[in-house]
Amino acid sequence: MANECDVLIIGAGPAGLMLGCWLARTGVKTRIIDRRATKITRGHADGVQCRTIEIFQSFAIADRLQKEGNELSEVVFYNPDKDGNLVATSRIPDTEPNTSRFRHVVLNQGRIEDFLIDCMNTGGLAVERSMSPLSLEISDSTTESHPVTVKVQHLIPLEKVSESDPSSGLYRSNILSDEEFDRSASKGGKIETIKAKYVVGCDGARSWTRKQLGFSLEGDSANIYWGVMDARPITNLPDLRVKVVLHSADSGSLLIVPRERNLVRFYIQMGKLQPGEKLDASAQSPEKIIESARKIIAPYTLECPQVEWWSVYEIGQRLCKNVSFKNRVFLAGDAFHTHSPKGGQGMNVSMADSYNLGWKLAACAKGISSPSVLDTYGEERVEVARQLIEFDHKVSRLFSGKPAVAESEGVSMEEFQALWVRMGKWSSGTATKYEPSLIMAESTAAKIGLAKNIIIGSHFESQMVVCYADAHAVQLADKLVADGRWRLIVFAGNMGSPNQLQRFNDLCSHLLNAPESPIKKYTPPAADLNSVIEVLTLTSSPRRALPYSAFPELARPFVGRYRYPTYDQIFSDEVSYLDGGGEAYSGYGVDPSGPGCVVVVRPDQHVADVLPFEDCVETLALFFDRFMIQCE
Ligand code: FAD
Repeated sequence: MANECDVLIIGAGPAGLMLGCWLARTGVKTRIIDRRATKITRGHADGVQCRTIEIFQSFAIADRLQKEGNELSEVVFYNPDKDGNLVATSRIPDTEPNTSRFRHVVLNQGRIEDFLIDCMNTGGLAVERSMSPLSLEISDSTTESHPVTVKVQHLIPLEKVSESDPSSGLYRSNILSDEEFDRSASKGGKIETIKAKYVVGCDGARSWTRKQLGFSLEGDSANIYWGVMDARPITNLPDLRVKVVLHSADSGSLLIVPRERNLVRFYIQMGKLQPGEKLDASAQSPEKIIESARKIIAPYTLECPQVEWWSVYEIGQRLCKNVSFKNRVFLAGDAFHTHSPKGGQGMNVSMADSYNLGWKLAACAKGISSPSVLDTYGEERVEVARQLIEFDHKVSRLFSGKPAVAESEGVSMEEFQALWVRMGKWSSGTATKYEPSLIMAESTAAKIGLAKNIIIGSHFESQMVVCYADAHAVQLADKLVADGRWRLIVFAGNMGSPNQLQRFNDLCSHLLNAPESPIKKYTPPAADLNSVIEVLTLTSSPRRALPYSAFPELARPFVGRYRYPTYDQIFSDEVSYLDGGGEAYSGYGVDPSGPGCVVVVRPDQHVADVLPFEDCVETLALFFDRFMIQCE
């Protein structure tokens, strides 16, 4: 007897857990399995980029990350001078000003996974561990509601990998062969058959799911290997609590990232391999990594009496361009892109993959959207992965290259630093922009004229505004919580102008009553008015210009069994009592005395369109009719 679920997630790393959060919060019947008996607690990824923290904020878990993580403020570059001596040549901010309201934070992957697990648990979803898939079949039947069948085995762990033992660092290192990797696996227990509407392989670089689909990673290896360790070092290097990017004259390069709990993450260049040569995993050790680090930072000294975690990896960039099969089985995270870890991108991009996929799967599983929205997952995320690999290819080769000292041949340190700075915005994750598609409109000059700083395809950036009802200063993006709803952000303009107020009232009335309005058409009759598409109103005029009760019903709908009024959908761009503000219209590039506009925001916070009030409902109807399913 098969057990049914809407979505089966294979792999509970960052990509799988982020997906689990979406599906748990949107009430989709989901299972998430992992072959490991325990989760990781040390090492692995640690950099959490600005956009990832914005995403965490949409799940209400950013504060935990900020409290425990270490914020990075500065990057210092150490390079050899003309005599080959190491000197600090320049210092730059780690996060470029105006990138985001959040800053780059570092914290070990295990804790980040804890936050996601807790978030998932509150939605009633827990990871089922020691479970490994055996087979995957997809039925061609168009009538089957759960066409994907996965046989899974409940495992009995053979050996427990101790996370407190730093020698466990080679677990998941790409220098292990598949055979060595499998050695710590488990022996089989009972077999269960699961039938799912959708299956997502979030099972890492060696993805079992990818292999079942017959897809492969393509790319190359740089034949260079690096060590990585988390330690509490003792050194006379002047900088240890800022990020250090260091190129020695002859002994290789090193990256230092100051971490939480006074830990320091080191990435250390160790050696080269001949083409086709396989690195001997058994010959690697923390002592070897420390020895390489000592040579690189000489004449500065380095002692590492306490190593919490270490690993060795080979630099390479690989991409699988197919990420879905029949819109029923998908890949996310390392399962379709791998690269070197120094850019601090792997975990971030992996979670961003499933942040993109989660709401689409939820909408399809619940019958709100047609399966065609799922096509946009690959269209949008493969391009991001391609850019990631291009970035990593450039940075890692310049990082591992011998610097040009005096007249000698080598990598120009100026070129390296310029690339680093240029890629800053991209690395923060805030530069991701999706192309026009089924769920993303084209940008035009007229649309740009309405909101000069809102970019169709990019995420909706935050500005401080004041909540109309309670005078609280709030970040507008905090209202874009990850719950699967679309948003219309109405820049209502000056409510003290009778003409503009009339235009705004007409727009709301049309959105509420016109039969073609997507709010009317796609909100189930018994559901709250804001349950599928929520309207957020931002006035340019201060709160005193119009009393709250004078706003139309659409802007402040009555919800729930007792028809309670909502108080958190109308905002003013006035200066708050204590926290600043009053710059939202100028920040978004919208004329405060102008005609206003409507910004369409997807459930993943990306701006899908910018519309004038005129023809807004008709244009929205054409847009939503392409992929929404009308409720019965
Ligand atoms: P993973 O984290 O690999 O998670 C995959 C999950 O699937 C695991 O829990 C695994 O047990 C499970 N799984 C695998 N196969 C199966 C199966 N057949 N059945 C069931 N479950 C399965 N990134 C950074 O950003 N910064 C860093 O400093 C950094 N350092 C790294 C150091 C090392 C040694 C490694 C290996 C990676 C590092 N990364 C770093 C990369 C980062 O860890 C990954 O990009 C990120 O974890 C990818 O997340 P994921 O969920 O896609 O895959």
